[in-house]
Amino acid sequence: MAEDQQRLNIVGMEREAMQGFFATLGAPEFHARQVLQWVYQRGVSDFSAMTDLSKTLRVRLKEIAKIGLPDVVSESSSADGTRKWLLRLVDGNCIETVFIPEEGRGTLCVSSQVGCALNCSFCATARQGFNRNLDSSEIISQLLIAKGLLQLSGHGERPITNVVMMGMGEPLLNYQAVISAMRLMLDDLSFGLSRRRVTLSTAGVVPAIRRLSRDCPVSLAVSLHATDDALRDKLVPLNRKYPIRQVLEACKHYLLGDQRRRVTFEYVMLKGANDSKDDAHRLCGLLDDVRAKVNLIPFNPVPGVGWQASESGALNTFRDVLLSAGIMTVTRRTRGADIEAACGQLAGQFRDRTQRRARL
Ligand code: SAH
Repeated sequence: MAEDQQRLNIVGMEREAMQGFFATLGAPEFHARQVLQWVYQRGVSDFSAMTDLSKTLRVRLKEIAKIGLPDVVSESSSADGTRKWLLRLVDGNCIETVFIPEEGRGTLCVSSQVGCALNCSFCATARQGFNRNLDSSEIISQLLIAKGLLQLSGHGERPITNVVMMGMGEPLLNYQAVISAMRLMLDDLSFGLSRRRVTLSTAGVVPAIRRLSRDCPVSLAVSLHATDDALRDKLVPLNRKYPIRQVLEACKHYLLGDQRRRVTFEYVMLKGANDSKDDAHRLCGLLDDVRAKVNLIPFNPVPGVGWQASESGALNTFRDVLLSAGIMTVTRRTRGADIEAACGQLAGQFRDRTQRRARL
């Protein structure tokens, strides 16, 4: 065991880091490319199987490096085909990852932290508290594990066509690890996903949205959920630090680089709180000068949370107001609710360092 801990885990190393690693071994750079392809494209987890590397190099790699992945503790399958895995990390903390199959595409919902520190008042992850950030290896491992298991169960060679950073955690509060993992998702030697097929969802960490546009401009989704600061302060406490105006400015800035893109605004529909016609009109006003899409999310019940889901009539009226204002709007279909895999229901298993659970 002690020996295993000393070996370097190459999962999560970006291309440059991998090349640097091979340079320290005195091995040619192209071996880094081969190893990336073995690990991410062919799902090989043993250096001995990498037959285009010399025998000596394979033996050396086995001595000093490893392809370390979290353990799969359990899998749940929903009646609608959604699958959720509970993964145990080396320190015993557990996180969740969800696969959502749709016609012509397969989306993996990836976690970025063990728990979440933001404490949004309608979210199950918030109620679990926060333990720590995931590292880039633990983030990219979620794709590797899901891909392997999906291939085994007949989902084809490339079961994951899209990734959404919408699992447990606030990705922009774990910036470096998330960027590093997303760069690997985009690397042709690895998963080779296009930037449009990787979406990062944030509650609105304004300075990090600005950095993201420079460092790794993937598709951006923002959890808006309210049209005035007083309500948003209650729903998404981060709003006290970065109010709606600042978040929208950051979104406009994000779009400057690409005229065809849009930011997706997520809006969870809460009965009697944010779902009136007035709210809908205010939302149109706010998004008037932003290239936006709106995703209305039916509220998924979370035990112990005071909020309730909007009636379908209110939801449809809200949607129609947005559509008549020319705003692209879809109601997100709830997936995996029977296995608690739907938006806001991911909880994992870990020790809360913030003592939030104790205060509930
Ligand atoms: N922290 C990031 C990533 C989480 S994404 C963010 O806030 O964007 C998960 C999405 O589901 C967010 O839009 C979140 O606000 C929403 N959500 C949380 N709890 C929910 C619930 N109970 N029902 C529906 N959506 C919920």
